[in-house]
Amino acid sequence: MKTAVLVKVVDGEINPFDASAVEWALSLGGEVTVISMGPRTWEGVLLPLTRLGVGRVILLSDPVFAGSDTLATAYVLSRALARLDYGLLLAGRKTLDGETGQVAPCLAETLGIPVLTNVFSFAVGDGAIVAETALGTECVGLPACLSLERTKQLRFPSLFSQTGEVEIWDSQTVGADPARCGLAGSPTRVIETFENRKGERACKMIAPTDLPDLFRDLRKKQKRKAAAAESETKLPSVWAVGEEVLGEARAIAKEVVLIGKDSPEAIAGRAKTERPDVILWNADVWGRRNAPIVQAMLETGLCADCTELETDGKRLVMIRPAKGGSVTAKILCRTRPQMATVRTVDEKAGDLIVSAGRGVADEVGAVRAFAGRLGAEFCASRALVDLGLADYPEQVGLTGRVVSPKIYLAIGISGAVQHLVGMRDADAVIAVNPDPDAPIFGFADYGIVGTFASLMRETDGRFPEGDKRNVGL
Ligand code: FAD
Repeated sequence: MKTAVLVKVVDGEINPFDASAVEWALSLGGEVTVISMGPRTWEGVLLPLTRLGVGRVILLSDPVFAGSDTLATAYVLSRALARLDYGLLLAGRKTLDGETGQVAPCLAETLGIPVLTNVFSFAVGDGAIVAETALGTECVGLPACLSLERTKQLRFPSLFSQTGEVEIWDSQTVGADPARCGLAGSPTRVIETFENRKGERACKMIAPTDLPDLFRDLRKKQKRKAAAAESETKLPSVWAVGEEVLGEARAIAKEVVLIGKDSPEAIAGRAKTERPDVILWNADVWGRRNAPIVQAMLETGLCADCTELETDGKRLVMIRPAKGGSVTAKILCRTRPQMATVRTVDEKAGDLIVSAGRGVADEVGAVRAFAGRLGAEFCASRALVDLGLADYPEQVGLTGRVVSPKIYLAIGISGAVQHLVGMRDADAVIAVNPDPDAPIFGFADYGIVGTFASLMRETDGRFPEGDKRNVGL
């Protein structure tokens, strides 16, 4: 089996999801080629891969590639892959900086090969792959592209291994049209970045001993219905792929066309005839896999994981955290249709959520038990999930779930913007944190300055067992 692996360098290291993909490739045996697209400075980071048994390491580097969005990146990679012989193309499911997860499906469609995303494990059979993915057991014929979850640790080089070299390919080597690379070939463009204060609340500091009574009062209140902010000016018409994004579409459009979750070919075929101005997708596993395929079929821009949408009546303004979450970006698409995957509220989430962060990493079991005693759903920040102390389905935030409970009790969570976008629609937010300057207090209605242990000490016995029966609130 000849395997090609896509690798990106993030913060001076190989993106961990891609490192796992390289390990998968090496463990298959056969020839392994690594392809990366980025600045020449990545050469030194990629070089050690040559000591692991990777036959060729190719860095696609040219100033005209700079600023490529997912469509332009997929185009350049497809030009390079056209020069290589491979049966299997592997990629990490996401990069830790961009987190779009769009390049692999968009590239696979550009290459005309099938793709499976969110792959946990796979086996190569007779001309086919059988894979365990987030959607179940799936099978595709070879050649194929797999976008892999992070399930393997990259091996260390043997002491006796030799260092090879990194091949540098520029736009001429791969025969890329400069008009389709970099900024020139990118339909999406960031027009503004700003510090997002949406979700800010006036925080009332309370004593730990006030919490049980506050709980009782808040539980009695009627639950608000979370709804996307209604835009004053509206687009004439928007396509919503699946019912999950109907609310978001209605908030920005006079007319909404509900599109069934058909095959990408069917959706793209209909779009080519009816030429919609905007297509919205839910940012779930299905949407994240299929939207980039349709993007490649329609050669248009796609913005991943939008947390808000705005419009001036003509253009769609897509809003999402950027630069690792330090800012929020407004993004426009200059091609049509303008496409976005949108974070939507998880309707199945509980009305009372106790969410734990890194601050209580040593006490997760106790926080879980506390949530259980209250009859609350346990959730977590990504920091806790990354530590292996909570499961991914429990993660709230940009790359986890969006919840809108009656009460969101955040314990040991600092309040990073990527976390806030997942819980800022809660009716009431209560934060427990020993740091009085923790950003979470700026986004909470009630705050307790203290540790989880002090909260337990001072309130123990005052959260009655009977509360469990009030789960339905
Ligand atoms: P920290 O930021 O480390 O905060 C821990 C807090 O605990 C501190 O405020 C500390 O004062 C407090 N503390 C310490 N001791 C105690 C104690 N005994 N009791 C109570 N409190 C205590 N994050 C998400 O949550 N969800 C996402 O979906 C998500 N997606 C991301 C996507 C991208 C592209 C990127 C770059 C990041 C993403 N993140 C996400 C990560 C995010 O930026 C933060 O790193 C993360 O939310 C921090 O988690 P935390 O608040 O638990 O940890």
